[in-house]
Amino acid sequence: MKILVQKFGGTSVATPESMKRVREKVLSGLAQGCKVVAVLSARAGETNKLLALAEEWSASPDLAETDALVSTGEQVSVSLFAMMLKDAGIRARSLLAWQIPIVTDDDFGNARIRSIDSAILKDCLAEYDVLVVAGFQGRTADGRITTLGRGGSDTSAVALAAVLNSVECEIYTDVDGVYTTDPNICSTARKMDHIAYEEMLEMASMGAKVLHIRSVEFAKKYKVPVRVRSTFSNDPGTLVTQEDSRMEAVLVSGIAYDKDQARVTLRDLPDIPGTAAAVFGPLSEKGILVDMIVQNTSLDGRTDITFTIPRKDLRQTLEIMEDVAPRTGASEVIHDVSVAKVSAIGVGMRNHSGVAARAFSALTQEGINILMISTSEIKITILIQEKYVELAVRILHDAFGLDWDID
Ligand code: ASP
Ligand code: MG
Repeated sequence: MKILVQKFGGTSVATPESMKRVREKVLSGLAQGCKVVAVLSARAGETNKLLALAEEWSASPDLAETDALVSTGEQVSVSLFAMMLKDAGIRARSLLAWQIPIVTDDDFGNARIRSIDSAILKDCLAEYDVLVVAGFQGRTADGRITTLGRGGSDTSAVALAAVLNSVECEIYTDVDGVYTTDPNICSTARKMDHIAYEEMLEMASMGAKVLHIRSVEFAKKYKVPVRVRSTFSNDPGTLVTQEDSRMEAVLVSGIAYDKDQARVTLRDLPDIPGTAAAVFGPLSEKGILVDMIVQNTSLDGRTDITFTIPRKDLRQTLEIMEDVAPRTGASEVIHDVSVAKVSAIGVGMRNHSGVAARAFSALTQEGINILMISTSEIKITILIQEKYVELAVRILHDAFGLDWDID
């Protein structure tokens, strides 16, 4: 039995008209000789409304009850869609996560999938042609409802695709696929035909919002081919898959950016063992994600440490540094909130040199100052003043020839 998992996002299931398009996509899956597992999100705006309701009714909404509440958005979508399929004479039924079950840990609001039992799914697939499964939800081992974090339906879909050995996991959304960069700021951005899991992970961690990051981790681990495509067109979309030689031939595959950054510097610290641990230990205890870190070479046994954090964590970070600075002997703490990261990403960097030099010279030609640099095997990240971000994205997109059609 061939099984196809298709996931439909909030805008795809928002209205009866858009649901009819979803039904067309499901029918095309059936026409390929597959049984279809359709994973649905809540209708657009619904999850936000439910979260607002919790805030309105409770001074401090209980996390487990919040999950029981917000998971209803998906319950509405799946039952409505199953009705529409039956209207069209299709053998279909809805399934909530607890009915399968999709078992998660008990981190309410951000639960991780532990296991999915395929027995009930397989029985249902023998009886029905389409199963309409609620995304975003799970249940703990002791039976409480959980949710997987915002955007988590992608992860539900990929996990189901892995368990059911789906031919592919199609993620239907309102864009045609994954672009070389944000088309809203770069008019020459191009839809990619394929992208490697690792590149997609880097793009997603930089804020490219097409896929829930954990869905990509899942897909990579279980080698599930994921196709991002639009409910509102017939474009084949972008295939997120294992890296191959075609991808390695391309130096840079995409340019991502993240404006949500702040920079903090501790000046004039003693360069002795334990200093960095004293700075970053308290930040990690508070769950603050430090990204770029630079420590200067020491002069007379003293050094500076600079790092970046998400902007929302700046106030808390500065509070922590008030305590850390005197303990480590730093002379002052300075910060800057108007910074942003721009990254060039590509698995091809593994085998090619000169990517960094090309990026730096392109930015220099436009007079953009580089504040910090960090590199990994497949990514170069440059910190710049936020006001230059759009320009920097366009310059790098152009410098690496991403507007050319290479396929
Ligand atoms: N409905 C959830 C959200 O809005 C999950 C999803 O759409 O993937 O975050
Ligand atoms: Mg989504």
